[in-house]
Amino acid sequence: MSDTWDIVIVGAGSAGSAIAARASEDPNRTVLLIEAGPDYPDLAATPFDLVNSHNNSYTVHDWGFEYQPTRGRSVNFPRGRVVGGSSAVNTTIALRSLPEDHAEWADAGNPDWAWEKVLPAYRRMERDLDFGHLPYHGDAGPITIRRYPQSELEPQHQAFLETARLLGYPDCPDANAPDSVGSGPQPMNKLGRLRVSCAVGYLAPARIRPNLTIRADTLVRRLVCENGTCTGVEVETAGVVSRIRAKLTVLAAGAIQSPAILMRSGIGPPDELERHGIDVTASAPGVGRNLSDHPAISVVCAVKDGAIIDFDAPIIQTILRYTAAGSEKRNDLQIEQISFAGRRGGPPLFSVAAVLEYQYGRGELRLASADPHAAPVIDNRFCEDDRDTERLLSCLKDAMAFTRTGPLADMIEAVTFPDPARPDDDVALKGLIRRFAGSGYHPSATVKMGPMTDPMAVVDQRGCCHFQEGLVVADASILPFVPRANTNLSAILVGEMIGEWLRTEPGRYGL
Ligand SMILES: Cc1cc2nc3c(=O)[nH]c(=O)nc-3n(C[C@H](O)[C@H](O)[C@H](O)COP(=O)(O)OP(=O)(O)OC[C@H]3O[C@@H](n4cnc5c(N)ncnc54)[C@H](O)[C@@H]3O)c2cc1C
Repeated sequence: MSDTWDIVIVGAGSAGSAIAARASEDPNRTVLLIEAGPDYPDLAATPFDLVNSHNNSYTVHDWGFEYQPTRGRSVNFPRGRVVGGSSAVNTTIALRSLPEDHAEWADAGNPDWAWEKVLPAYRRMERDLDFGHLPYHGDAGPITIRRYPQSELEPQHQAFLETARLLGYPDCPDANAPDSVGSGPQPMNKLGRLRVSCAVGYLAPARIRPNLTIRADTLVRRLVCENGTCTGVEVETAGVVSRIRAKLTVLAAGAIQSPAILMRSGIGPPDELERHGIDVTASAPGVGRNLSDHPAISVVCAVKDGAIIDFDAPIIQTILRYTAAGSEKRNDLQIEQISFAGRRGGPPLFSVAAVLEYQYGRGELRLASADPHAAPVIDNRFCEDDRDTERLLSCLKDAMAFTRTGPLADMIEAVTFPDPARPDDDVALKGLIRRFAGSGYHPSATVKMGPMTDPMAVVDQRGCCHFQEGLVVADASILPFVPRANTNLSAILVGEMIGEWLRTEPGRYGL
């Protein structure tokens, strides 16, 4: 092995980019950031799909995965494959996890993740152009966040907010205020049309440091583990396989690939590894289990003549967060107005999405084979837990109420899904939910953190693997469950917390 570094980070996504930037603030620490996808260091030469925050990039910089949201149904599951990771292809919704999510994570044996402990990291990561002066916000961080003012809202978003008021939901000017509830502008990490991804926010200013190297177009095949210690990674660049040695390896390949890489390296449920002929390095039953995400279902509407559906407009601008009747989980539901639906050139449609934010059910991720090029099997099992189905049903009915009320109803010619010609009683709607609920693209918790006493925990609250020295996992996979928010800021939070610990408390990581 010739290639030797202090810290090797696998995956330049939301968390990996933040970790690379924070850890390399120490000029004496050599940091290598490895990414399977391409790198575009020059913003002027960056492809339009990555710049364009008005819509997701689904194909050009994508892994091409499929998943089963509900049993027997297989659909595309986008994940960014590029420096910046999923933050470089996403919708740029910038919502924070709730203090109550953190209270549950802390109670589960992760006290360093309590709200008051993470708030400084939330403040550090953001440059909030609207509320940066408030004590719980930041105004100088790498991720710029703003909200569309009323004057910039598309007509359907203006109508959505007016309809929410008519339906009795409170106004919410700042959905990132810790006690926020209600409807208002969506906080978004965009500047004009530019997506402020982690490649833009964190890596652009850090990449000039001589102690930080970004190695793109390089697939990490597996971890190299010797006598209970991870000593680096086996990589493949342009078909050539080699090894890279590290004092500390930080796995930040996301909630789908981090557990897959662990399993390919022999760290996982033994029966799963043996099925694929992988030698068991460490029995870690929690790897790939506990898959937690946001099931969603949309009401699709054909708009009246005269209502303009513009596929170049921002796909989303507004948000409603609220609590299901009788629920103990604050803000466990979201309703989102989506600016356009269907295909460009097709009939003019928009949709109103109902999203379950606090999920009781769990899915699972397995290997399809030991081949590092093979996609894993992603089995979400949405709405098999009745508590999830009941609350998503109430959210769907609330979303349907939007389409029948006030200025939003005035824009709608007809609802096309759920089919108005079919029964719309609770039994029928639950049937639709159990068949058609889909992911909000927020997979989390497949390598969850927790104390050794939790048999399903894979890492401790600092990200250190319980089963292997020299190995940290740090991305959305270590969250104990999906927070009540779209997950980009939470993944960045993991990067900020662990990146900062690597810099300030290196001894705890063997550095
Ligand atoms: C289409 C889409 C829209 C979304 N919209 C939003 C939104 O608007 N707001 C929001 O909050 N969240 C959104 N999300 C979710 C959010 O972006 C993710 O939760 C977050 O980016 C996850 O961060 P991460 O660091 O865990 O993983 P990622 O950002 O996915 O990073 C993982 C990185 O590891 C790399 N990698 C993986 N395997 C390997 C390997 N073997 N070798 C080398 N590199 C590897 C990947 O290419 C990737 O760059 C969206 C996601 C998608 C896909």
